[in-house]
Amino acid sequence: MQVFVLFSLVASTFFQIAGLVPCGYVQALLSNKSAIYFAACGLSHCWDMKTIDQVERIEWFIPWQALIQARNDINNSQCFTLIFQRSGGHGSTAATAVSNKNCSHLASTYCALAILKMVGYNLSNINPEAILKSMRKLQQHDGSFVPIHFRAETDLRFVYCAAAICSMLDNWTGMDKEKAKEYIVRCQSYDGGFGLVPDSESHGGATFCAVAALQLMGFIGEDISPNQEVIDMPLLVEWLLQSAARQSGDGGFQGRMNKPSDTCYAFWVGGVLKMLGLFEFINKDALRNFILSCQSKYGGFTKFPGMKFPDLYHSYYSFSALSLLGEPGFRSLYVELGICSDCNG
Ligand SMILES: [Zn+2]
Repeated sequence: MQVFVLFSLVASTFFQIAGLVPCGYVQALLSNKSAIYFAACGLSHCWDMKTIDQVERIEWFIPWQALIQARNDINNSQCFTLIFQRSGGHGSTAATAVSNKNCSHLASTYCALAILKMVGYNLSNINPEAILKSMRKLQQHDGSFVPIHFRAETDLRFVYCAAAICSMLDNWTGMDKEKAKEYIVRCQSYDGGFGLVPDSESHGGATFCAVAALQLMGFIGEDISPNQEVIDMPLLVEWLLQSAARQSGDGGFQGRMNKPSDTCYAFWVGGVLKMLGLFEFINKDALRNFILSCQSKYGGFTKFPGMKFPDLYHSYYSFSALSLLGEPGFRSLYVELGICSDCNG
């Protein structure tokens, strides 16, 4: 199938999942705020959202808008300050969402800011200082972050979200970068990859979070050099490029040793290789063929070849990987934030 046909099929899936065609799957996804990010970001890989009619943009995206909490809530760390929810149609109203503490979350805030950048929303219209002040209270003594104010798991995903939020707001007062760096360094495993927490198994997604956060914070550069002493770079390169571990015989990437290839790791691992200037060392044709072997006749991409139904998560990351590969029609990607380069301007 030609890639331009693939565009329309995938776009169709993104549209459906974004809410234009109701179905059970859409309802399920809308309970997950990140789903809106996957839909919007996937579309933006081949469309400039800023060219969509302004009224349509507002109807589509602004309902998932940022709501600022009362100052007392911020001071008491009672609630994170950016709520990502839809005010009508699916889910709760804005008022009930504010009363539900579970609605505010580091990952949702990252997704909300990314979407607002994608559609050309002026971030000065929100209150960055309130977001950053609240977020700083989520950083733990070891440098990690909890994603919500009433405690939860801590791991590299939320360190990455915090770094991405500070980067998008161009203000790093929301975190202690040195402590965050120390936590990330502790997550590098004996084999060179990164686990989600210290002393855990290396994982493609965790490795992306570690390297992207370090780059956003300015601790490592775009090219590998002997001066990159923050982490054990030679060991990381070995983990990334060892043929038996990351790029399989089918051309796809594995997230962990001895696991099957999976389309999302085409971005997680491919993105790390891109950030470190190592993308040229992989078999790009084989990776492209693997991704295209996972396209669904219903539009979108599946996790593995041979699966019948696509899902939004793997469709978005397949799109992102095709952007990394320079597929015609795809816009270039600012890998560290997972959004189009133009959207980061
Ligand atoms: Zn996956």
